[in-house]
Amino acid sequence: MTNWTPDQPIISIHNVHKSFGTFKVLKGVSIDVMKGEVICIIGPSGSGKSTLIRCINALNDIQGGSITVEGQEVHDDKLDKLALRKKVGMVFQQYNLFPHKTALQNVMMAPIKVLKEPKAEVEQRARALIKKVRLEGKEDSYPGELSGGQQQRVAIARSLAMRPDVMLFDEVTAALDPETVKEVLITIKDLAAEGMTCILVTHEMKFAEEVADHIYFTDKGVIVEHGPPAEFFKMASDPRTREFLSQVL
Ligand code: ADP
Ligand code: MG
Repeated sequence: MTNWTPDQPIISIHNVHKSFGTFKVLKGVSIDVMKGEVICIIGPSGSGKSTLIRCINALNDIQGGSITVEGQEVHDDKLDKLALRKKVGMVFQQYNLFPHKTALQNVMMAPIKVLKEPKAEVEQRARALIKKVRLEGKEDSYPGELSGGQQQRVAIARSLAMRPDVMLFDEVTAALDPETVKEVLITIKDLAAEGMTCILVTHEMKFAEEVADHIYFTDKGVIVEHGPPAEFFKMASDPRTREFLSQVL
């Protein structure tokens, strides 16, 4: 139990340092996220975006600083990792659905196996989530029968089935065909509009501009620049940010 209240950041990343061996990947990263906010992290490949995302739900350890979720230190040996990962949903570039399970079964699996929730209740929730990600009618389809974008939306529904308070998205459209990228972005927009707190790593600049409350540009393990989208895109003053934006816009 913590004394966290919703007027405090739901996620607070403070001066985080992360190394793999002697290689310093994150060198003092700080980000605060309020409940209901959408934060986009952009930056060149290798700048530490995925590493940071993985630190938030304790898939990576850290060597300095702190990360709290709802006031609770994530990198505390006593932390209940399962409870953390229930609270913090994560979707990756590779959706890794179970190929021999239908869309509905994929969404139902974790609440039944991990949370031990009653099947009937989980099924009802899973059907509603499939509808929410605009895949009504695809409940009984197998991943192989779905497009990449549809599979990624099943993966998003699967993550939502755990009823997270926060969602982390790490380049979830990067592996998709251009024509299916949009439908995944629409799903994320829907979620954001409903007030889900989201941290997104993305290369979709237009999307970031539309959906983000705040954009962070990272390079070589530090935040070079950040601000609300309107300011960020107009004023990006650091040469590294300018160079990056000139390549992706
Ligand atoms: P990004 O997501 O911004 O492309 P990553 O966080 O994946 O960057 O990687 C940042 C740096 O950390 C890269 O140089 C990468 O090679 C290195 N790295 C990532 N994961 C590991 C790991 N498990 N072991 C060693 N080095 C890693
Ligand atoms: Mg990455």
